[in-house]
Amino acid sequence: MLQLYFTPGPSAIYPTVNLHIKEALRKGYLSDSHRSATFKGIYKETEDNLRMLLGIPDNFSILFTSSANEIWERLVQNTVGKKSLHLVNGAFSKRFAEIAAEYGKETIIYNAEEGSVVSPDTIKADNEVELVAITHNETSTGVSQPIEDIISIRKKFPQALIAVDAVSSLPIVELPYDQIDSAYFSVQKCFGLPAGLGVWIVNDRCIKKAEELESKKIITGSYHKLLAMAKKAEDHQTIETPNVLGIYLLGKVVGDMLNKGIGQIRNETLYKAGVLYYGLQTHPLLNPFVKNEKLRSNTVCIFETNDKSIEIINFLKAKSMVIGSGYGSFKNNHIRIANFPATGKEQIEMLTDKLNDFQ
Ligand SMILES: *Cc1c(COP(=O)(O)O)cnc(C)c1O
Repeated sequence: MLQLYFTPGPSAIYPTVNLHIKEALRKGYLSDSHRSATFKGIYKETEDNLRMLLGIPDNFSILFTSSANEIWERLVQNTVGKKSLHLVNGAFSKRFAEIAAEYGKETIIYNAEEGSVVSPDTIKADNEVELVAITHNETSTGVSQPIEDIISIRKKFPQALIAVDAVSSLPIVELPYDQIDSAYFSVQKCFGLPAGLGVWIVNDRCIKKAEELESKKIITGSYHKLLAMAKKAEDHQTIETPNVLGIYLLGKVVGDMLNKGIGQIRNETLYKAGVLYYGLQTHPLLNPFVKNEKLRSNTVCIFETNDKSIEIINFLKAKSMVIGSGYGSFKNNHIRIANFPATGKEQIEMLTDKLNDFQ
């Protein structure tokens, strides 16, 4: 029997991907040169569709990398001379800060309490900070930083670049692109695609900063340095032979999401998150890990399990449903449920019913 995946990355594949893969093979796209008009057309379609779905303004470029991990490194190399500031609310935001430290940058770190976020009020203004790193949706703890917080941080750091990790919340979150300088995601989370592609959205301020660093003879990388990537992107090309299938599939799935309507997709996500959080409210074992409802993620729903994670995971597995275990040290006392667009309402309802059968 086919398994139903509720895992937060890699995650359930968007239902139309099967057809799009066959089409890509049938049309020979995967053997066409990445310097051909065909590839440029694929890049352009994916870019245009993403701009429309997410409302990305024209002063942002859309660049392709191998993963979000790569984007962390590229951001550090290309936008930080000396000093970056990191809001750490879980394992992913922590890793970004570590990369900056490994590059010898002075990293200012604000740590959130477990299951919460850093409050902007606690952050001290500092006009030497060049990059502020915010994780909108922490996939390891299931917290979401409210958008108002991003706007308050912008006010405190007018000179800095603000980069938002929205790996497990785009396209559900509406980001305030006029208040930030970069956002990024990888495709194996909310977009329901095979892993191996990161999408880096960067504005002209980031590009200007990379130019500034280069003019000071600071090394901004080699093969994927921002200035070279952005220049190629103007002509809908990539430096390397890219993940053509990944870029093609992303464009097609975003096209399907446009046809369905982003409003509808966002409403369904809210509805399904409600089914999970409220449907499990009276469960004798499960409790939402994030106590403050305002900070609870709608796309990665995390429950404490009274150390019964393994039993719950196996109980569901026997019913062909796969959920995520807790992240890192939470392995045995959390379960993580992805509430991404690839998963339908009925599937979330069925999962909630089965979880209620486990007592
Ligand atoms: C998964 C994830 C990443 C890393 O993505 P990769 O594609 O594995 O590099 C980064 N940030 C968040 C919030 C994530 O969920």
